[in-house]
Amino acid sequence: MTEYIYIDGRFYDKENARISVFDHGLLYGDGVFEGIRAYNGRVFKLDEHVDRLYDGAKAIMLTPTLSKDEMKQAILETLRKNELKDAYIRPIITRGMGDLGLDPRKCAKSSVIIIAVTWGAMYGDLYEKGLTAVSVSVRRNASEALPTNIKSLNYLNNILAKIEANEKGGDEAIIFDVRGNVAEGSGDNIFVIKGGKIYTPFIQQNLNGITRASVLELCDKYRIPLVEQNLGYFDLYTADEVFVTGTAAEIGPITKIDGRIIGDGKPGPITRKLMKAYTELTKTTGTPIY
Ligand code: PMP
Repeated sequence: MTEYIYIDGRFYDKENARISVFDHGLLYGDGVFEGIRAYNGRVFKLDEHVDRLYDGAKAIMLTPTLSKDEMKQAILETLRKNELKDAYIRPIITRGMGDLGLDPRKCAKSSVIIIAVTWGAMYGDLYEKGLTAVSVSVRRNASEALPTNIKSLNYLNNILAKIEANEKGGDEAIIFDVRGNVAEGSGDNIFVIKGGKIYTPFIQQNLNGITRASVLELCDKYRIPLVEQNLGYFDLYTADEVFVTGTAAEIGPITKIDGRIIGDGKPGPITRKLMKAYTELTKTTGTPIY
């Protein structure tokens, strides 16, 4: 089937979906993006994703050509055009075409791109077996340099972490911040469980994950105590359970970190309970596509 890509109000088939080589999104990573999933004919947490996208755009003084409502409609239209009910959706707002200088004032008009594809469970059989994580030497961009809550097109920091994890044989990287606290994974947030309590780093050290927020809601619902606090290596190595959360990854249990077996080496009971509850939530809530 032809895949249709939305670019600035028109649909193009995949081969003809192109943007300018002078787009500052390409030249400088100047832009913002989102990763959204649709389940069972509904887009999960659409408002939250579009809010985060537009907050990021505002923070970098990027004016989108679409209102938030128009963006939501364009996302739904892209799914309909591609006849998708279950999908991974990638909206992108780039600074647009400029010259080879950095100055964004040279970019007359920003661009919107929306890609929607079929993408099943990211970690395959590892949801049953558990993921192997490795801590990496590269530090999370300090939020003083680039606020971690802007989901910007500049993902080189995360890619460096992924490269290091690949080299060390890990399924996912654990990135620390410049102060030595656990920040997050290369594309997901992290949670540690010890003695029936869940711990997760403050959002100042990572992307304010929408899946993370869903987990916080679920913990509230199931009365599982959750604490936001700084975490270090010791907390990871001695945890009963560890898991990561993200739109693409969903909830991924981690059963080995830097060679240390976590708990009994299998996804633990609280993680499993949250995985089940999250699946249920994604299948029963969201904005209808059709
Ligand atoms: N951290 C990073 C660096 C990410 O790229 C992502 C994925 N968007 C997340 C965390 C998880 O965020 P969300 O749950 O909103 O997908």
